[in-house]
Amino acid sequence: MHTFSAIALRICRRLSLFVLAVPLLAYASLPESSNVPGGVAVVPLGSALTGTNKPQTWLGDQPVLVTSDHDQWYAVIGLPLDMTPGSHELSVKIGDETKAQQFVVNPKDYPEQHVTLKDKSKVELSAADLARAEREISAIKELKHHWRPAQDTDLTFIVPAEGQLAGRFGVRRFFNGEPRSPHAGLDVAVASGTPVKASAQGQVLAVGDYFFNGKTVFVDHGNGLITMYCHLERIDVRTGETVSKGQLLGLSGKTGRATGPHLHWSVVLNGAMVDPELFIPGISSLTAIAEQSRKTK
Ligand SMILES: [Zn+2]
Repeated sequence: MHTFSAIALRICRRLSLFVLAVPLLAYASLPESSNVPGGVAVVPLGSALTGTNKPQTWLGDQPVLVTSDHDQWYAVIGLPLDMTPGSHELSVKIGDETKAQQFVVNPKDYPEQHVTLKDKSKVELSAADLARAEREISAIKELKHHWRPAQDTDLTFIVPAEGQLAGRFGVRRFFNGEPRSPHAGLDVAVASGTPVKASAQGQVLAVGDYFFNGKTVFVDHGNGLITMYCHLERIDVRTGETVSKGQLLGLSGKTGRATGPHLHWSVVLNGAMVDPELFIPGISSLTAIAEQSRKTK
């Protein structure tokens, strides 16, 4: 989905950092804009020259991240995978005035993946497992909607583990022929015991051991941007701890529902699971992306 003009715009934004005066905020790189379900819409909100108030924005009743780049304010909106394509409305409050800002979401067909799982206990859940999984899903949902106001948020991530990209975001999965929720993260193929690092500066929002996700760390980067690191073998951080970009969070593993060791990494923005690749500059140069239709991740 890289149009030439989008790439050119991105390059211009990057170059502008070197050419122009000090940006208003410490982090100025925007994620790649991709107006599709599971993508990120970057919506300009007007001048961010000194003296202008930072706008506040909402999608429904969920606050939305605002940042500045090249002397402009931008809303950076996470678009849920189940969002209906078409015109949508962002509420924008500047000073005392609130207005509606339209933006468009285009349709996207994600590929399908059919998986055969031999361990049926992970597909056909017992009543006890089902009850546990449902409790955890609602607890995780609450974490994903957490909002911690922060002065600024680093929107440029590092890949949290060194390995081949083995499963991309948005793939529509079928386990033993039955439709399951789409793949809401990115899989990195790594052996158990591989260091897993924070993709950006933040605070540890929660750690847990979940039926599906296994041992998981949630890092809150501020302003509704949260990352999740799943299936870990070991967790080395505690809730509330501040972590820097690249800091060790734990070691990869295969806890929870995983047929083999790998890191499942998710990015949440204003409560929506979005494509992590949009936050990694130059990820397309990591040519190791393998569309593995044969195995689950
Ligand atoms: Zn995964």
